[in-house]
Amino acid sequence: MIESRMTIGGRTREVADYFSVRNPATNELLGLAPNGSQSDLDAAVASAHLAFGSWSRRTDEELREFCIAIAKKIYMHSEELARIVTQEQGKPLNGFGSRWELAGAVAWATATADLSLPSRLLQANEQATIELSYKPLGVVGSITPWNFPVLIAIWHILPALRTGNTVVIKPSPYAPLAALRLVELLNEVLPEGVLNSVSCNDRTSNLGAAMSSDLVIRKVVFTGSCATGQRVMQSAALTMKRLTLELGGNDAGIVLADADPKDIAENLFWGAFINSGQTCAAMKRLYVHERIHDDVCEELVSIAKQIPMGNGLSEYYLLGPVQNRVQFDKVDRLVEAAKKKGEVILGGAADDGLFFPATLVCGLENGDALVDEEQFGPALPIIRFSDEEAAIRAANDSRNGLGGSVWSRDIEHARAVARRLECGSVWVNRHGLLQPNAPFGGTKSSGFGVAFASEGLREYTDIQVLHS
Ligand code: NAD
Repeated sequence: MIESRMTIGGRTREVADYFSVRNPATNELLGLAPNGSQSDLDAAVASAHLAFGSWSRRTDEELREFCIAIAKKIYMHSEELARIVTQEQGKPLNGFGSRWELAGAVAWATATADLSLPSRLLQANEQATIELSYKPLGVVGSITPWNFPVLIAIWHILPALRTGNTVVIKPSPYAPLAALRLVELLNEVLPEGVLNSVSCNDRTSNLGAAMSSDLVIRKVVFTGSCATGQRVMQSAALTMKRLTLELGGNDAGIVLADADPKDIAENLFWGAFINSGQTCAAMKRLYVHERIHDDVCEELVSIAKQIPMGNGLSEYYLLGPVQNRVQFDKVDRLVEAAKKKGEVILGGAADDGLFFPATLVCGLENGDALVDEEQFGPALPIIRFSDEEAAIRAANDSRNGLGGSVWSRDIEHARAVARRLECGSVWVNRHGLLQPNAPFGGTKSSGFGVAFASEGLREYTDIQVLHS
């Protein structure tokens, strides 16, 4: 059994109370995580605040070297962390699973190390010298979800540290073990207090809420659901915190009439079913032109049938369970409701614990719950269309605006359609492929602020303009 620890001020923080973490593939008790309290959070914030004084005065090169040391540390412990992720989150070791997540964490840490925000000279003449520089904010609070426990932690921690901020991170109670271990490991290469962790069960103690209203924390970077994001935004208003809100998505894919169903089927499948659909920028609604609708369905069914689902500690499986009962019940409810109107062409019901089979449902339209709501699970509605303009309208008819995709042999036309989609990222002939050099963030209710690249780095700074 894994016994995890909070790290505060470079040391393990002793606590009296722990909560259980279960393996969603087996329902067995996997580990215990500390149920931190307000005093633990206060200690973590105080230690980050103290460390900020010297950390923020480090040179750009020093900060870069620390980030490289972080990347190396993660690389050295990739297999250990991947195995924890698989057991607490459910995604398999292989495929787009936990080893892939860890490789991403190393890639992002390395890429972030190489970013920088140099000062800019805006004016230099006899009237004045005006210089713009980017200053760290102070203590950053990071609140993460359960779907990519290590990768999203890295997306929050690295740009914060790279720009001279210190961090308190709070992982999701559903999957806290890998993130707590990650912080322990990174403390082996960081000065004390620069990176601190707290965890809690969200019932007897909700430190995410406390972080959002904390007076010392200057910024919260939050990845999670729209509903919680709204709560974070409400509490942050009182302290004028900076916010990055990476919230839910209900990404549409539009397959145009000229697409080749066989060619695109595999990318379509993984665009929707990566991490069993529990991915913010997964495809959650698929609009297909009527001319090729049936062929696309047939190809998707054929691919889905070849992808094995099971306990991801086995090297064989490529899909795992839904991570928790609440999420499972949501997917189940949406699929049950969809059955009243649509036709389930694959899957549709689970018969083993939290393993919900890859499910494809035809015959639905906007207004149906499985189309309108973020299912965040392995159930994809496929909507038939005859008119391209109507498909674009339907895709945009959503409160979310995270990602989208257009599928066609005619790349120029696909790009033109893609530009009309109301979302932060849009892909042609693939979906959801994030990379560190491309800013990523939501529009509409999917949040605001971006991650990655120098645009993402700026989110952790205030601008100061020096006139002399
Ligand atoms: P969630 O909102 O339930 O929880 C996210 C985090 O918020 C957890 O750490 C939780 O403990 C914490 N929290 C709970 N109550 C809080 C409060 N009152 N104030 C502050 N924090 C609080 O989300 P989840 O179920 O863990 O994650 C799934 C959601 O995350 C999906 O909607 C998904 O689309 C979204 N997501 C978005 C992105 C993105 O980059 N846009 C990435 C991954 C996941």
